[in-house]
Amino acid sequence: MDLDLLQSTLDAEGQPAYRARQAWAWQARGVRDWDAMSDLPEALRERLSDAVPFSTLTLEHEATSQDGTVKALFRTHDGRPVEAVLMRYKDGRHSLCVSSQSGCPLTCTFCATGAMKFGRNLTAWEIVDQALHFRRMSKVDHCVFMGMGEPMMNLDHVLAACRRLPDLGITNRRTAISTVGWLPGIDALAEQDMPLRLALSLHAPDEDLRSRIMPVNERWPMEDVLAACERYYEAKRRMIFIEYVMLGGVNDRYEQALALTKLLDRKKFKVNLIPYNPTDSIYDGSTREAIGAFKAVLDKAGFNATVRLTRGRDIDAACGQLAAKALAG
Ligand code: SAH
Repeated sequence: MDLDLLQSTLDAEGQPAYRARQAWAWQARGVRDWDAMSDLPEALRERLSDAVPFSTLTLEHEATSQDGTVKALFRTHDGRPVEAVLMRYKDGRHSLCVSSQSGCPLTCTFCATGAMKFGRNLTAWEIVDQALHFRRMSKVDHCVFMGMGEPMMNLDHVLAACRRLPDLGITNRRTAISTVGWLPGIDALAEQDMPLRLALSLHAPDEDLRSRIMPVNERWPMEDVLAACERYYEAKRRMIFIEYVMLGGVNDRYEQALALTKLLDRKKFKVNLIPYNPTDSIYDGSTREAIGAFKAVLDKAGFNATVRLTRGRDIDAACGQLAAKALAG
C-alpha cells in the first residue's frame, strides 16, 4: 500500500494521525482487505478502499516449487514486471528474496535479469508490498535484496522499505542488501543507522576476470570496492557476505580459490559459493566436485565457506533466474 497516499487521503479528510498507524498495523499483520481493519470506522474503510489501492502491485502469476518455494510475478500500476520469492527452510526460517528494480541496468554476463530491458526503480511501497504479499500467506523472518535489480542504485527507497520490514517480523539484522559493488552505495549504507547485512557479489578473485564477468567492475574496480567493504566492517562490526557464483572453467580453479584466500580477510568476510543456475548465457555451472574442491581450499585457509542451497529451480525461482519470463511470452 502506498502509505504516502494513505496519509494524504486521511489528512484531506481531517482524520487523526493514529488512523494511518492503525491501518499499517493491520497490513503488517497480513490482513487481506480493508474490511478486516475492525478498529477503523466502516464508512472510512469504504472511502479508503475507493481512494487507496490495497497494494501497489497486482499479482499476475504465482508458482509453488516441490520444495515449498513460492515465486510471485507482479505488475506495477504502469505495467512493469516485478518478481519476488519466499523460501521456507526445514529449520523453520522463512526467507524472502525481493526486487529493488524492475529489470536491471547492469549487464552481468551470467545473469538473466541483466539480459532484460531495464524498467525503473521501485518505490519503497512497491518493495514493501512484495513482502506483504507473502506475509499474508505465512510468517516471514528474513529478507535478502537479491531479486531483480541493483539495490544500491535505489538506496533511498530500499532503506525506506527496510524501516517497515521489522513490523512484518523481519528485523534489520536479518535483512541483507546485496550489491555488485556499487561503491557510493556501500559507503552510504555504512553511514545510516540500521544494522543491515551487506553482501557483495564478487564472482572473481582478480580485476581482469571480474571485468569480463561483470562490466560494472570497470566503473568501480574490485580493489576499491573491497576497501569500501572494509570500511563498512569497521563502521558496523558485521561480517560482509561474499557471493561467488561458480562458473565451470571460468572462476572455479584451484589457483583462483587460493587467490581468493589471499584477497579476503577471513575475519571480515564470509564466503558463500553459489551453484550456477542455468539461464540463456554462455556459461555452465561448475561441477559438484569442482565446488567441493574450491570450498576445501577456502576451508583449509580457515574461511568456513558455505555452499548455497538451490531452491525453486523447477519454477525458475532460483538465483539469477528472476527475469520475468512472462514479459517475453
Ligand atoms: N544486483 C545485486 C542484487 C541481485 S542479487 C547483486 O548483484 O548482488 C542476485 C545474486 O544472484 C547475485 O549474487 C548474482 O550474482 C546471483 N546470480 C545471478 N544470476 C545467477 C545465476 N544464474 N545463478 C546463480 N546465481 C546468480
